[in-house]
Amino acid sequence: MKQSNLIFPPESCTGCGVCTAFCPQKCIRMRPNSEGFLFPEIQADLCVKCNLCRKKCPLISPIDHSPVFSPPILFAAYHKDIVRRRQSTSGGAFAAIAEEVISKRGVVFGTAFDAACEHVICRTAHNEEELFSLKNSKYIQSDSSNVYVEIEKYLHKGQIVFFSGTPCQVAGVHSYFLTNPQKNLLYTCDLICHGVPSPLAWTQYLKWLSHHFKTGISDFQFRNKQKGWKNSLRSCVLKGKRIFLHGKEDSFSLSFYLNLSLRESCYHCHFDCASKADFTLADFWGIEKTGCIPNKEIRDGISRIEINTLHGQELFSRLNDRLEVFPIQWDNRQPVCTVRPSQRNFFYPRIKKSWEEAFPLMKIPFLTRIRTALREYLPESLLNVLRRIQ
Ligand SMILES: Cc1cc2nc3c(=O)[nH]c(=O)nc-3n(C[C@H](O)[C@H](O)[C@H](O)COP(=O)(O)OP(=O)(O)OC[C@H]3O[C@@H](n4cnc5c(N)ncnc54)[C@H](O)[C@@H]3O)c2cc1C
Ligand code: SF4
Ligand code: SF4
Ligand code: SF4
Repeated sequence: MKQSNLIFPPESCTGCGVCTAFCPQKCIRMRPNSEGFLFPEIQADLCVKCNLCRKKCPLISPIDHSPVFSPPILFAAYHKDIVRRRQSTSGGAFAAIAEEVISKRGVVFGTAFDAACEHVICRTAHNEEELFSLKNSKYIQSDSSNVYVEIEKYLHKGQIVFFSGTPCQVAGVHSYFLTNPQKNLLYTCDLICHGVPSPLAWTQYLKWLSHHFKTGISDFQFRNKQKGWKNSLRSCVLKGKRIFLHGKEDSFSLSFYLNLSLRESCYHCHFDCASKADFTLADFWGIEKTGCIPNKEIRDGISRIEINTLHGQELFSRLNDRLEVFPIQWDNRQPVCTVRPSQRNFFYPRIKKSWEEAFPLMKIPFLTRIRTALREYLPESLLNVLRRIQ
């Protein structure tokens, strides 16, 4: 079988998989490249050159989608249920929207770990129990190429669908459903997105971590809030016991924050500050400066909610029982602008041999290292002082 070239230059393709879903010949497959990121690959002998894959690619043919609100309507918010808020990365805004959709017999699509924490998958939640696994950020790219057909089935049955993902995944969903007669049943939500590492990076890290601890790990959390939202720590479970990760044990997140492990498209993202989603969610860093939320509430996390469309506003107006919301004047937030470090060239070739080969690339400031190492042991009040003087 002859494999042909890619549809879009590898430095820009986000891996959303819409081209695969649209191909009438089913001759596009999503395949991992040498870094473990998924890319579409055309089986040239089956292709009838209809060009549909290019027409539907959100990069080649961006949808003329003008958000109704320019600028978006901005809120700080937190879930009124403290347990649900603590289960979430920031203030639990995603959970509140999802619960409302589920209460109307709708379906939620989001990203979860599989049972062994080895892979991130796009999956559905039909009830609160299933919703649990979608909560919390997993800083790894999930494969959304199969969700389009699945969403279509639910819309066809007249069910509400809420899709939550990275901005490029949401752009794919919008492209697929642009002309769908049931698209008024579809709500979307994206995130202010720093970028995504590949599943291969995660596999190599897990392999190293299991070897380091001499046992398999489970229930990995990127943002455990035991010491508060702003002092969040990575944690995992070893033989039934939860532990916090420091230094090299936390090197997956280090490589993420140092921008070493991200997909090439993330270094010149087309979707930052140009959301096509009904909502954009993020951590509301700096919320204390507005003085609108008591400090004791900030401790457990505050969500930033940008409402981009009238459709989103209508759903948002039904969340009063679940969310405490504070209107904020639009702050002209700047794009995340993830800069590609020169060491990025060496990261994937090194981790393919073994994860520890990349340790020399992960240089972090001394104070940050100390603070992270002390997070588990120092009281929260002292950690807050340290953060201010850093
Ligand atoms: C890869 C990534 C990068 C991010 N970068 C930033 C940033 O630079 N600045 C910032 O302020 N916020 C960033 N966020 C968003 C932030 O971490 C929170 O997800 C957001 O504030 C929502 O929090 P929440 O409490 O409402 O809900 P949570 O319960 O924390 O949100 C979970 C939602 O995120 C989705 N999600 C989780 N992992 C993934 C994934 N791998 N791919 C797609 N969707 C996923 C789930 O499907 C679910 O819908 C990022 C999130 C991700 C996943
Ligand atoms: S040109 Fe048409 S047949 Fe060929 S890969 Fe693209 S969508 Fe499929
Ligand atoms: S549709 Fe998505 S996966 Fe296909 S070429 Fe465009 S960006 Fe890449
Ligand atoms: S930074 Fe841009 S390209 Fe990368 S995952 Fe986020 S939205 Fe997609």
